[in-house]
Order: sequence, then structure tokens, then C-alpha cells
Amino acid sequence: MSKPTPDVYEQGKGMDAHNQVMREIRSRKEASYDPHEPTRVWLDEDNTPDGVKRSLTIILNTGGCRWARAGGCTMCGYVAESVDGGSVSHEALMDQIDVCLAHEKENAGELSSPSSRTQSDDGDERADLIKIYTSGSFLDEREVGAESRRAIADTFADRDRMVVESLPDFVDREKIADFTQHGLDTDVAIGLETATDRVRHDCVNKYFDFADFEDACAEAAAADDAAGDDAEAGIKAYLLMKPPFLTESEAVDDMISSIERCADVSGCHTVSMNPCNVQRYTMVDELYFNDGYRPPWLWSVAHVLEETADVDAIVVSDPVGHGSDRGPHNCGECDDLVQKAIKDFDLRQDPSVFEQVSCECELTWETVLERERSFNQPLTR
Ligand code: SF4
Ligand SMILES: [Zn+2]
Repeated sequence: MSKPTPDVYEQGKGMDAHNQVMREIRSRKEASYDPHEPTRVWLDEDNTPDGVKRSLTIILNTGGCRWARAGGCTMCGYVAESVDGGSVSHEALMDQIDVCLAHEKENAGELSSPSSRTQSDDGDERADLIKIYTSGSFLDEREVGAESRRAIADTFADRDRMVVESLPDFVDREKIADFTQHGLDTDVAIGLETATDRVRHDCVNKYFDFADFEDACAEAAAADDAAGDDAEAGIKAYLLMKPPFLTESEAVDDMISSIERCADVSGCHTVSMNPCNVQRYTMVDELYFNDGYRPPWLWSVAHVLEETADVDAIVVSDPVGHGSDRGPHNCGECDDLVQKAIKDFDLRQDPSVFEQVSCECELTWETVLERERSFNQPLTR
């Protein structure tokens, strides 16, 4: 059985009790992986400040999130790897990138939107947007060394835009410049979860503050200035809709104010609101199992998007596992319709898409918003 342990960097961070519980829960599952294969890779479409683009999303296997090894976030089912030191070599990381390029080539025919395709010199269709997630921090040099980071920037130098995931501590202008110097517009995706420090610390067990996020945005803004007209740099904030221990109405209020606060930070141009889903081997899963947690209603997601439609940022949401008990859901009858409206909103940013959907269960949702308290939640399944 793997025994996740905190490294020195993580010691003293987060809530001890949360970390202890999460370490125990994670240790129930053994993980193994091939360092030469990415965790996942797929082709998709995404809304960016330059419009909708065809994207290649890569989940790079970098040996794992060090925060998860310390215990980590209460909703994240990321399994702490048992690899000593948790690092993957430069050669193995580049093998993973090769696998992703091969995947893109093989599946290029599936591209559906002609407006978001580009022909490369050798006639292949390729994605203009490359998104790299690591279940950790791409900009943490212990996960991805400077040599690998630069080699990956070189590999994708002919694309338009890159998104790399990182915790705010590791964001700095020089690292971003590795990408912008190729003329690549570059976004750093930060799992901020909420703008409210108390909720981030006590409900999510994430150790950093909103001020760290603001610092990271300032680094991106500096990288943007330094790149001049050649490229743009910015931050994409990832927020968590309805962490554990919040009622539906508290979660909605927290999300609306979080989106507004993020949009006000210079350098942050996109907010991605992710409704919490119940992942195995997490504290949220234990709560769910004991009738102490219900994922958010899709009505709540739609409501937040409507309420924040006029902020100065792109706001999107991709409810994972929508319609299922473990994912964001309504009554079962209207889930697909509301999900479709949310996806429409993502691409068009037009809140009138929500006027076209309605269902009897809206009344139940409204009652939950009104009546649910922390001591009686969840009021419904
Ligand atoms: S949410 Fe991110 S930071 Fe938190 S444990 Fe999971 S991978 Fe690590
Ligand atoms: Zn319904």
C-alpha cells in the first residue's frame, strides 16, 4: 500500500485534520503508471480571448501532485503516486509528448468545426490551442524541469496558444517567457477554487491565499508586457462550485463573488467554474456516502453564469458527470437540456440561452436555496 507523505515544502500547510484524513483515504488505493505515457490526451474545442479554437488537451504524467501526497484537497481523487521523489525524467516526458502528437495526427479527421482548424505545412490538420495539465504544477521545476519546459515550448512553437496548469507559487514571468518568446499566447491555469480564503482553506484544504493568486496574475501581466505585440500572457482561474460543508445557497453566493473578484484582477481574463463531482478516495466521497454531501444543482451553475454574464472576463463551465448522482444534477429529466444550455453559453457568452430551459424541479431547487442550512444539508439527493 502506498503511504503518501508530505515533503518539507508542504509541511505546516493546510489543515492538519484534513490532511490526516485525506492521507488515510488516499492510501487505500495503490497507483502505478507508465512514465512514458500521458495520463490522458484528447481533442476538443475551447473558448479563448481570440475566439473558439480547436484544442489538444494533454494530462501529462509528472509523478504527481505533491500537495496530494501531503493529504491535499478534500474533493480531489487524484491518487498519490507511490513513486519515490515523484519525478519523471526529461526523456520520459518527451515520450509522452510524442504520444500526444501521434494521437492528434491519428484523430485529426474528427475535427468538427472548420473555422477552428488550421492546415500545417505538411497538410495535417492540427489544434491551434494546446492545454497541458499535470494534476499538479507544470511550472514546478520538480515536476517539469526547465529543460523539458523549454523543449515542450519548442515543440508547440508553431501553434497559437498554450495553457499550462500551475499552483500560483510557481508562476513567474521568466517561465512564461519560455512560451511567449515563440509568439505563443500563453495562459496559466490556476486552481484557485474560490476567492474566499476561509472557504479555500477550511472546505477545500488548499494552502494558498487569494493574494498569492493576485501575485501570479501580476507575474503573467509582466510577462504580457515584456512580450509586447508578439504574444499575450494571462491567467485562467479554475473555481470549484460547491465545495463540501457549504449549503447550495452559500455555494452560489461564494461562486458569484469569486467570479466577480477574479474578473477584477488584471491579468485574469478567463474564469472556468467547475461544479464539484464526487470522486473516489476523497473526503467528499465519505461525506456523500454518509448522506452529508450533494453535488450542486445544474440550476445553480446556470444561475451563476447568468448573474455574472456582464463581468469583464470570459466565464465558462464544463459540468463533468452532469446528470449523475455523483455529478452536478437536477431532477434527471432536464439535466441534458440544462447542460446543453451551459455548453452554448460557454461558446457564445449569451445568458439568454437559459431563458429557453425550464422544468418543474426549479421549484425544488429554489426551496433548497431558501431552506437548506449547514445543519440539515443536503436537503435533497
Ligand atoms: S486539486 Fe490539484 S492541488 Fe489539490 S490535491 Fe488535487 S491535484 Fe493536488
Ligand atoms: Zn428538472
